[in-house]
Amino acid sequence: MTSKMSVPTPRPAPVHAPMRQFPVRDGELLIGGLPITRLAARVGRTPFYAYDRGLLARRVAELRAALPAGIKLHYAMKANPMPALVGFMAGLVDGIDVASAGELAVALDAGAQVAEVSFAGPGKREAELRQAVAAGVLVNVESPREVELLAGIAQALKLPARVAVRVNPDFELKGSGMKMGGGPKQFGIDADQVPAVLARIGVLGLAFEGFHLFAGSQNLRAESICEAQCKSYELALRLAAAAPAPVRFLNLGGGFGIPYFPGDEPLDLAPIGANLAALQERARTEMPLASLVIELGRYFVGEAGVYVAQVVDRKVSRGQVFLVTDGGLHHHLSASGNFGQVVRKNYPVVIGNKAEPAEREVSTVVGPLCTPLDLLADRMSLAVAEPGDLVVIYQSGAYGRSASPQDFLGHPHCTEVLV
Ligand SMILES: *Cc1c(COP(=O)(O)O)cnc(C)c1O
Repeated sequence: MTSKMSVPTPRPAPVHAPMRQFPVRDGELLIGGLPITRLAARVGRTPFYAYDRGLLARRVAELRAALPAGIKLHYAMKANPMPALVGFMAGLVDGIDVASAGELAVALDAGAQVAEVSFAGPGKREAELRQAVAAGVLVNVESPREVELLAGIAQALKLPARVAVRVNPDFELKGSGMKMGGGPKQFGIDADQVPAVLARIGVLGLAFEGFHLFAGSQNLRAESICEAQCKSYELALRLAAAAPAPVRFLNLGGGFGIPYFPGDEPLDLAPIGANLAALQERARTEMPLASLVIELGRYFVGEAGVYVAQVVDRKVSRGQVFLVTDGGLHHHLSASGNFGQVVRKNYPVVIGNKAEPAEREVSTVVGPLCTPLDLLADRMSLAVAEPGDLVVIYQSGAYGRSASPQDFLGHPHCTEVLV
């Protein structure tokens, strides 16, 4: 060992497209119009998630402007089930999609219109199906078993069982972060088994309303989304010939992605709007009673949210700066790269109270957990930060708190606010 051992200068990570949804004033990020330090004082502790009502409303309005009138927008609340946020969204969108009886309860408390709530997900328990029938919501059936159980429940409760058939299509959404259709899947009923299930729905006298197709998630390629929508429409039209009643509800899925990583470009809505207009025009004659629905989670809420953690310690190890924060993968598994990413990439990050820094350095942001997986930003160019400064992770409104293992390692849970 020599005393002059050379330390490698850390190589900075690729740079993200600038995040412009939150304005900056006097060097501070404004969330819901509040400077980040004031918001942190109002919340009273870190770490926290904050969701901006103005941005949520703007996103719904932008989507309505880009898509033809009459296309129903459903919020898939799995992306962010915070009750106050679901209540806010319920007032903006046409329907709420739930994936458990727990989510159903939140949606009903939020004031969602029961006629426009639908319940999808594999392995629905009998008790959950009973709750759904009693509530009067639409059940997207995912197996012959659910059809048989619903018939018994409808009879016992003397209520109609409203059903749509969730189809596992024979194609996938190309270029998706997560594929949820095509090939063998636990989701939905294989297209070739659907006619038999439709016949059974007719025999049992369930209230058939239509079809649900969901081919994938987090897609930034408009042409792939259009292709999946067209194939979904064609498949539903073929299957409708075997249905016991006209199609009133046709959920073409969603999959609209948001830019998370360097090189990601926002989704171009114009071709999707044109494609949906063409499908709607065809439906006027081919399925005249059908409403076309798209269901979106992260596209509605992802960009409206941030995760905020405070720097606790600043360390330099072999030439590399580490900002150790009070937050980490236990609150934000997605940003750590451990929620469905194949190769870890950084989310966009900023020091929220030094958003227009005079001085930058390459820093690595980590949490307090004793695992190298607890990495929030790997060698990013950030403002020179000290203990007390606020690390802000953008694009954190979806699959954040509820998708993270909060109990792992026994640190305090995080909180969340809607501003
Ligand atoms: C997860 C899921 C969604 C939401 O996906 P996003 O990528 O958040 O838009 C919508 N529908 C179904 C059936 C899902 O499972």
